[in-house]
Amino acid sequence: MHAHHQTPAVPGVGDHHNATTTERGSFAVARCTCGWAGPARRSRDRARLDAAAHMAAPPERP
Ligand SMILES: [Zn+2]
Repeated sequence: MHAHHQTPAVPGVGDHHNATTTERGSFAVARCTCGWAGPARRSRDRARLDAAAHMAAPPERP
């Protein structure tokens, strides 16, 4: 329907975490530049919340 709408980067957050939402069919998935990806959501708002939660509390990395 409409072009990709990327979540704008949040200034001052994290080092290399920049989570955005992408659409997969009728689902939306949050993905991050660190390689993290959230679960498939039926609502883009939910995926956006996943992205926000990830940037607020990114997983520990070795
Ligand atoms: Zn990340």
